[in-house]
Amino acid sequence: MSLRKEIRIIPIVAWVLAVLAYIGVALGLFAAAIPAIYILLIGYIYSDSKRRGMRHILWTLLAIFIPNAIGIILYFVLRDPMPCFCPNCGGRIKGTFTFCPQCAVPLRPMCSQCGRAIEHTWSHCPHCGTSTATGKSGAAPTPPAAPQPL
Ligand SMILES: [Zn+2]
Ligand SMILES: [Zn+2]
Repeated sequence: MSLRKEIRIIPIVAWVLAVLAYIGVALGLFAAAIPAIYILLIGYIYSDSKRRGMRHILWTLLAIFIPNAIGIILYFVLRDPMPCFCPNCGGRIKGTFTFCPQCAVPLRPMCSQCGRAIEHTWSHCPHCGTSTATGKSGAAPTPPAAPQPL
């Protein structure tokens, strides 16, 4: 008598009930995990908002007390970008800063012509058209071609 033949005699109703029982227990386990996930997320929000320089007590309380995890979702939508640190003085700076607020060292490259912040990858200043490599101002913008009559 092989195991396969033995399995075949189990009625189909028993199979259906077994699958339903399996899913039921699996869902029950999942539901049991939700409070644990909730607590872990709140712990994450506490530490994450603290290291981002946000009002971490306020955000933790919002995450706990706004029902249906809306506080948690709001946190992930509204959280500040990760802070950086000044290479000169080590002070905390935000990603959008052009100068360090503590020691005034420039944190980004600047256009030599107009003095506005530019990105390393840009070949020309988007504000005045100066080439970031040569510092020479770009060619005068050419007017768009007149529309041709049909
Ligand atoms: Zn600094
Ligand atoms: Zn410029």
